[in-house]
Amino acid sequence: VRRNPGQPEFHQAVEEVAEKLIPFINENQKYLDASILERMTEPDRVISFRVTWQDDEGNIRVNRGYRVQFNGAIGPYKGGLRFDKSVTLGTLKFLGFEQVLKNSLTTLPMGGAKGGSDFNPKGKSDNEIMRFCQAFMTELYRHIGKDTDVPAGDIGVGGREVSFMYGQYRRIKNEFTGVLTGKNLAFGGSNARTEATGYGSVYFAKEMLAVRNDGFDNKVAIVSGSGNVAQYTVEKLTQLGAKVITMSDRGGFLHDPNGIDTEKLAYIQELKNVKRTSLAEYVAKYEGSSYHEGERPWGIKADLAFPSATQNELDDKDAEKLMANGCILVCEGANMPSTIGAVKVFEKHKIMYGPGKAANAGGVAISGLEMTQNSMRLQWSFEEVDQKLQDIMKKIHKKCVKYGQEEDWVDYVKGANIGGFVKVADALLAYGVI
Ligand code: NDP
Repeated sequence: VRRNPGQPEFHQAVEEVAEKLIPFINENQKYLDASILERMTEPDRVISFRVTWQDDEGNIRVNRGYRVQFNGAIGPYKGGLRFDKSVTLGTLKFLGFEQVLKNSLTTLPMGGAKGGSDFNPKGKSDNEIMRFCQAFMTELYRHIGKDTDVPAGDIGVGGREVSFMYGQYRRIKNEFTGVLTGKNLAFGGSNARTEATGYGSVYFAKEMLAVRNDGFDNKVAIVSGSGNVAQYTVEKLTQLGAKVITMSDRGGFLHDPNGIDTEKLAYIQELKNVKRTSLAEYVAKYEGSSYHEGERPWGIKADLAFPSATQNELDDKDAEKLMANGCILVCEGANMPSTIGAVKVFEKHKIMYGPGKAANAGGVAISGLEMTQNSMRLQWSFEEVDQKLQDIMKKIHKKCVKYGQEEDWVDYVKGANIGGFVKVADALLAYGVI
């Protein structure tokens, strides 16, 4: 705390990992002797810069941009960019730290990083977004590269923003290389990247259920968020036979007891991706549905829960509500959506709980495959990438079970933390004092 003041989310992420890792490290003297945990909790490099841009009225605006290159021991830095008014250095350090372990878990050669800005994209015109993205990349470009650091999207950064930033990078460098992922299919994007985080989260849940010889048929699911991850979580859950009855946004949550089917989801995508408006508009179109302002969906009875909006959106009280309603599985599409208190509740009840660094790793895994395709200058089909995604999620699940199997349940938090740690730790050991 003394060393990293004012970074509560970073402390929270490290505490959760350290709790499971320290007993393991104590049993493996080589990691202890080489101060591996101390090295892994200090970023390789933190870059902070000014972003100056002009709004539509001609006013000059100033934001702060960051890139936290957290650990590059096992590959080029990789991780998303977040544009949100809540972004601080502490937020990006928590996300970067988690990203190191997550990327290791995917089995692909990627280090971990995260970046972004306190720029608030809400209510901005397309032209303002473009000018901000170009200004942001005008500084960021000197710190990244296809073999150095390859950013992607996150909250507030989707296809539109990645395109603006890639266009600016290409213009400055006069170079067509895979320096960002999540690109448009027309200029080096990968099939199934847009879907990958949400689909991957559902594939992970499928593996957790399979351990208990269970599946999605007749299951009711609640999802939070209505952005990239949430949308494709809902799509895949529906395809695999579950009924999804909630989604949410910053204003509140939407409850549709009849289920959000493919047609309704298409309407939500229009509301969120094209009109960029509130989910509340859904209620006027679909009978029986309701929008609950200022609330989160965790009080609604369901078998499965997929928190897929943002960090700390589910606390211990919410977790108790889920348990009281008979929820058997929580699978995190978002990064650290559950507070430490909520995780304790899940552990007490020994439910199937898939932490974000394992459950949402499908997105970065397919970003890794986008880098592979860019290096080979070819594009695999949707089916091919989707199959690889399923295989990767199976492997991640297997690794979690390997390190997290307890007598009568699987501790996926322990499994993911140790499973992600070992590869990075071994690389650091091999490098010597570095
Ligand atoms: P989007 O920006 O596409 O969507 C975010 C969603 O969460 C929106 O519905 C937004 O509401 C809601 N939201 C954001 N902040 C808050 C808040 N403070 N309170 C309530 N709701 C909020 O982002 P993504 O879907 O890409 O990301 C969602 C989560 O998944 C994040 O935790 C991200 O780090 C994680 N993730 C994303 C990956 C990816 O590939 N995109 C990969 C792995 C993890 P509104 O519509 O009102 O803005």
